[in-house]
Amino acid sequence: MQDQDSRNAWEERLKRVKERMNKVKHKIAVISGKGGVGKSVVTVNLAMAFALNGREGRVGILDADIHGPCVPKIIGLKGHRLQAGPPGIFPAVGPLKIRVVSMDFLLPEQETPVIWRGPLKYQAIRQFLSDIVWGELDYLFIDLPPGTGDESLSVMQLLPEMDGVLIVTIPSEVSQDVVKKAVSFARQLGTRVIGIIENMSGFVCPRCGAEIDIFKVGGGEKIAKDMSVPFLGRIPIDPKICEDSDRGVPFIVEHRDSPAAKAFMEIVKKIEEAVEGKKG
Ligand code: ADP
Repeated sequence: MQDQDSRNAWEERLKRVKERMNKVKHKIAVISGKGGVGKSVVTVNLAMAFALNGREGRVGILDADIHGPCVPKIIGLKGHRLQAGPPGIFPAVGPLKIRVVSMDFLLPEQETPVIWRGPLKYQAIRQFLSDIVWGELDYLFIDLPPGTGDESLSVMQLLPEMDGVLIVTIPSEVSQDVVKKAVSFARQLGTRVIGIIENMSGFVCPRCGAEIDIFKVGGGEKIAKDMSVPFLGRIPIDPKICEDSDRGVPFIVEHRDSPAAKAFMEIVKKIEEAVEGKKG
């Protein structure tokens, strides 16, 4: 009886999450085989690239990285607290009117997030997700926890139909192995892999202009070919990405002519083409 009750409550919640996300046209999860490859930085800059490409006010980010939510810091919303009203919880509004919801907005500052330790955590997240008033959006990017373990799986299961996942990797061979896991993870969930993005791909020395392949180059493309999934592009290492992310300044807006910003804009076109069948 109790089991049935909790099953009903779970289904009710899922239904509400789905209803809340109904007005979001495209939902894309961003995953990586492991941490530190730039998944959050890529999520934020891609979202901004979509906004710059004629979708200002129609893009959102859900930072679902429960243990290390860092989207607010990158986008300059650190310390924001969620506002709630009768319809539900309202996302924060960042640069280019990007709507942002992060687990970080729920946590007491500087403290260990005790609430996320127990089995209650997914219940809390589900409850939270079902209360967010996203409004009308063209694209919602979901920054998942790193890796392809239970954590990412559980968060994915809380979300309604996705258009697919983007996999962020760095070009080294070690990373290629974990990308395979990420592709299998998406396939297990029956979710489409929209494509692989190779981040930290080459570095142009600002002093001498020489191109140095710090983590090699091309590993993402190779693995995409091996696994028969699309390759979406390369983002070079740019120290300004790191500086701007640490300061909460939107890199792509500040440095629109940089090779990295241009690479993001190119990837936008490929994603639009993949999910909307749109060319150019
Ligand atoms: P993840 O979400 O995969 O754990 P982050 O997005 O937090 O990784 O990025 C890890 C670190 O690498 C951050 O300090 C970020 O600023 C930096 N970074 C990410 N991509 C680049 C890049 N293309 N060039 C320079 N620094 C980068």
